[in-house]
Amino acid sequence: MAARVIDGKAVAAAVRERVRVDVVAYEAEAGRTPALATVLVGDDPASEVYIRGKHKASGEAGIRSVHHSLDAATRQEDLEQLVADLNADDDVDGILVQLPLPDHLDPDRVVALIDPAKDVDGLTPVNAGLLAHGTPGLVSCTPAGVMELLAHEGVELEGKEAVVVGRSKLVGVPVARLLLLANATVTMCHSRTRDLDAVCARADVLIAAVGVPRLLGAAAVKPGAVVIDVGINRTDDGLVGDVDYDAAAEVAAAITPVPGGVGPMTIAMLLHNTLQAARARTGHS
Ligand code: NAP
Repeated sequence: MAARVIDGKAVAAAVRERVRVDVVAYEAEAGRTPALATVLVGDDPASEVYIRGKHKASGEAGIRSVHHSLDAATRQEDLEQLVADLNADDDVDGILVQLPLPDHLDPDRVVALIDPAKDVDGLTPVNAGLLAHGTPGLVSCTPAGVMELLAHEGVELEGKEAVVVGRSKLVGVPVARLLLLANATVTMCHSRTRDLDAVCARADVLIAAVGVPRLLGAAAVKPGAVVIDVGINRTDDGLVGDVDYDAAAEVAAAITPVPGGVGPMTIAMLLHNTLQAARARTGHS
């Protein structure tokens, strides 16, 4: 039986509309507009596309956005000074430094400088620590989007077996923490995991965040599982996920497509986080 397709575009549109309505209410109460500042170093075409998408979505949600485009040869201290200036700018609620940075720059040092109250990507050590502590602040957008999709699908997580493949700071670790907070029994897999398919096949909820095209096939999917594919891989066949969609869809109960699954959720949750940051900073709802 073919799995139900989890429509990330539709769920993201609903989140974006909710944020748009909430921004109107926030403006009426606070007398100001939430603002997002983005920083891009260099001219990586994929990053430029992502940034353009973030600004377009911000505008549609009524969020003011300001972009800072820096030369590829920008020095570490100049990038750090820009982050410090944005931290000090009271009109700015959210700061997003688009990753990856050019090789000569240290992303960890830059991210750690972002004011945690403006860290709409949820990547600073403070926000990662709050999540690890079980008291989330601003949660990184893709993991938050995964949880929103599961909630929208009505997936009951309490006591369920969840397997996360991938342990990056950006996706795998925060997703696992959020699943744990939702009382799932969580197993994390990575490149040294033995018999990956067998571990994955235990999962009621399988999250793939690897970056290897179609790594997980039917043997990795428990019949009736919910499969969330975070992977975005460019191949000769176009964009594909970390899951072999056709094979997995024969076994799973529900599955996200690539594209059109988790991807649209990331921008939607960025807007959500920007409004959340504005509310928390200014004390208005
Ligand atoms: P990453 O930092 O490269 O991490 C990949 C993780 O996968 C690592 O933990 C790695 O294990 C593990 N891994 C690699 N090969 C493996 C294998 N053969 N078996 C099991 N585990 C393996 O990647 P990321 O930033 O988390 O991104 C993962 C994927 O999600 C990418 O395709 C990326 O493009 C996509 N992504 C999508 C969105 C979105 O908006 N939809 C957002 C962010 C990322 P080790 O730790 O042992 O090396």
